[in-house]
Amino acid sequence: MTEMPELERDPRKIALQLLSAASLPDGQIFTELDAPRYTTVDYYRMACHMIFACQRCGNCCTTGDPIRLRPEDVAAIAKGLKIPLNKALKKYTITDPKKAGVLDFKHILPCKFYDLSAKGCKIYDIRPWSCRIFPFLGIYGSEDQIKVNESCPGSVETMKILKEAIEAARADAKMSDADDPAKVRSAKAFLRVALDSI
Ligand code: SF4
Ligand code: SF4
Repeated sequence: MTEMPELERDPRKIALQLLSAASLPDGQIFTELDAPRYTTVDYYRMACHMIFACQRCGNCCTTGDPIRLRPEDVAAIAKGLKIPLNKALKKYTITDPKKAGVLDFKHILPCKFYDLSAKGCKIYDIRPWSCRIFPFLGIYGSEDQIKVNESCPGSVETMKILKEAIEAARADAKMSDADDPAKVRSAKAFLRVALDSI
């Protein structure tokens, strides 16, 4: 199993780093040609992931919302379950009725991989990207706003905590040098750790 990085959980520290990270765009900070570029909205998303605590209510895996799959998600599931790709496609996926060419999980009421007694995911290490980024959905690298799922109590709580922490951080005198490029780079690196943890 891949070792997950330790995440900072203190909302105040996260909010301070977020305000610093958001003060200059990636293009001015990461000059490496192969460095991934993220938007300010992405950094807000990363901060949400750091604060988020799942309440294990099971809503996301049991209430029948479509669960999107990328081709690489199905390939990873097939590999993890040690079955051929075409069998995984047939057994677990359907074409989204509203979006041609987009795949969803076939069984979602509840998801076939939800363990009702343990209240957890049976394929946690190979779960699809849409499950990994839930409940702060969105396309990384775009300015699309974070879509918070109101049926997820953990996300509602996270937004409240982050909003309060940002307000407190804005009032902090140390924010005066928040747009120092070295500090911004360090803040962006701090938040990017969240992506490795999901
Ligand atoms: S794959 Fe796992 S995390 Fe995703 S919906 Fe199914 S049970 Fe939930
Ligand atoms: S809906 Fe939110 S709080 Fe409930 S299990 Fe899913 S991620 Fe956790």
